[in-house]
Amino acid sequence: MKIMSVNAGSSSLKFSLFDIETETLIASGYFEKVTIPGSFFNIKFNGEKIYEEVEMPNHTVAVEVMLDRLIKLGIVSSLDEIEAVGHRLVHGGDKYNKSVIITDEVMADLEKYADLAPLHNPANILGVNAVKAALPNVPMVGVFDTAFHQTMDETSFMYPVPYEWYTDLMVRKYGFHGTSHCYISKQIPRILGKEDYKAIICHLGSGGSLSAVENGKCIDTTMGFTPLAGIMMGTRSGDIDPSIVTYVASKTGKSADEVMNDLNKKSGFLGLSGKSNDFRDVNEGRLAGDERCTLAINKYVKTVVDYIAQYYVELGGADIIVFTAGLGENACPVRKMIMEKLACLGVTINEEANEVRGEEIEISGPDSKIKVCVVPTNEELMIAQDTYELVK
Ligand code: AMP
Repeated sequence: MKIMSVNAGSSSLKFSLFDIETETLIASGYFEKVTIPGSFFNIKFNGEKIYEEVEMPNHTVAVEVMLDRLIKLGIVSSLDEIEAVGHRLVHGGDKYNKSVIITDEVMADLEKYADLAPLHNPANILGVNAVKAALPNVPMVGVFDTAFHQTMDETSFMYPVPYEWYTDLMVRKYGFHGTSHCYISKQIPRILGKEDYKAIICHLGSGGSLSAVENGKCIDTTMGFTPLAGIMMGTRSGDIDPSIVTYVASKTGKSADEVMNDLNKKSGFLGLSGKSNDFRDVNEGRLAGDERCTLAINKYVKTVVDYIAQYYVELGGADIIVFTAGLGENACPVRKMIMEKLACLGVTINEEANEVRGEEIEISGPDSKIKVCVVPTNEELMIAQDTYELVK
């Protein structure tokens, strides 16, 4: 059975096509600058990369081009082979705690929660509508980024603010990257050889979040009402004192929106290093003795370690710490720095294993009190698996 996962952004569209019974990736594609002049795509199939420039003024055209090329490139012989489509949907509010078949009600809720994710939900809606127009009889499933975190209890998800902000304005912690945290949490019983576990999952990419997970259920997570909260990231500040927003606005003449834009797009690695939002560039600076790059990496490590310590206490211990996503899977020096700071919890490091990148591997030493592993994430497969479960 062939299942496609689709991730529609405001000016992009990604797809992955799986043979779901064997969990094999058949083809994947990334369509960029959709809605903007100069659009193009890359499709990976059969070990080849196909690049083409083609104007895609809206998501409907992007989906038409995608389906057309699936046939022209021989990836499928007929569109009937695509038996279901799973969509990455960002915000399901506090209503969706798992993936669902997409109905009119789900579409209305996506609109409703667009206030909470103004950059993402409208793009997701465009993606769903475009696929629906091209494949009207194919069942579609929505996989929410927020769903996995819905098991948090109110002491974790409530902010200590006027209660009406929650009841009237939906202000609470939602958490994001749920598909990745969920995928990793499903790998842990296999790694540990037991179903009961306490885990701290570190999704460290250009965006980043940690989650505290007990027996597959999310207890707490670092992102909050929006993805700005939690650890320091590529361009996001993570947690700061909210008073800074009005202070900087009053001192610079910027609006609150402009300051928020700085916190989302000009902070984190980029803001502290002044060099790049990409860890690799910042690490190069650090190795060359650049003080701000060194500060950026030390601060990053501190924010991750602070949350690991918090979740260790919140969970009452931990069987496993998992690193995943671009930085977590590849940035060996960061993993080492984090693990060294966890020595007080009995964590030891297997230096040789820690030099491996992008593969599932145990990187703690044999005497470590907590197992530490790298586990590559696979959000696209998770979306396809959830889709299969709901449509099979
Ligand atoms: P993601 O958002 O999951 O794609 O992760 C992006 C982050 O991962 C960036 O900060 C990259 O610098 C980092 N990253 C990706 N590949 C590597 C690598 N081979 N070594 C170190 N960091 C990497």
